[in-house]
Amino acid sequence: MNIKKITGKIKKITDLSKTAKEISIVLSEPLEFIPGSFVNVFFDINGEKVRRAYSISSSSNDHESITLSIRLSPTGTVTPIFWGRDMVGENIELMGPLGLNTVNKMNQDKIYLFAFGIGIGVVKSIADYFTNIKKVDSLTIISGSRSEEEILYNEYFKQLSDNHKNVSFSNVVSRGTPESNIRVGYIQDFIGDYDFNDSDIYVCGQEKACNDLVAKVDSLGHTNCNFFIEGFH
Ligand SMILES: Cc1cc2nc3c(=O)[nH]c(=O)nc-3n(C[C@H](O)[C@H](O)[C@H](O)COP(=O)(O)OP(=O)(O)OC[C@H]3O[C@@H](n4cnc5c(N)ncnc54)[C@H](O)[C@@H]3O)c2cc1C
Repeated sequence: MNIKKITGKIKKITDLSKTAKEISIVLSEPLEFIPGSFVNVFFDINGEKVRRAYSISSSSNDHESITLSIRLSPTGTVTPIFWGRDMVGENIELMGPLGLNTVNKMNQDKIYLFAFGIGIGVVKSIADYFTNIKKVDSLTIISGSRSEEEILYNEYFKQLSDNHKNVSFSNVVSRGTPESNIRVGYIQDFIGDYDFNDSDIYVCGQEKACNDLVAKVDSLGHTNCNFFIEGFH
């Protein structure tokens, strides 16, 4: 894929939860990307150019526009801007596609996609690929969120598993409520029954969470299993 520096116009911003937004960007020229890719986004902040990486959360079938799914870091430099003013109509500079953990390297017929927090954004793009572009025998998706209110893209994934027999989707929350029937804990607390032999495992989210999950998979034992770890930092 050609890495390009292009301009994008923010077309729409959708609240996914109190702390997550989906940014829809129309591109100045078509961008081909492989699901799992990210772009670098450049912002002018107080006369300084600041760069941040964001994974593409939209389908790779659309080359004219992309979405980025962004979580607020309240004390961060860039993300509070999206909560502070309406950025619809503004132009931003992008560079991409970038990244090594892309679906063209996932060749097994058994795929696991584990997403912590906002990592579910790129998993949405990858799941689109494995349901609309390349079929696999089984696609298991688990989303780990802080609380029920912070579960993102739930309807999208529920529909995906309703419409595809080979797709399973479930949520785990680290802080649950007694009324809810959603499993409480971390993703790695609920993977003991999976068969990880001959599988590709994609893990995305905060680096520590990703590493803890991979350690749990390793402790369960597996052969011919490939990890694709996209740790946000
Ligand atoms: C490959 C990749 C893909 C990514 N994809 C996504 C994505 O899809 N969605 C997403 O939301 N994020 C993603 N990220 C993370 C994203 O790039 C930003 O890091 C994130 O949005 C925070 O940016 P910020 O400018 O708001 O915060 P930053 O200014 O970068 O600060 C982040 C945190 O670090 C703290 N901090 C800053 N400086 C210091 C310091 N000197 N000492 C101690 N603490 C400090 C801040 O207080 C804040 O809590 C990705 C990162 C990578 C590497």
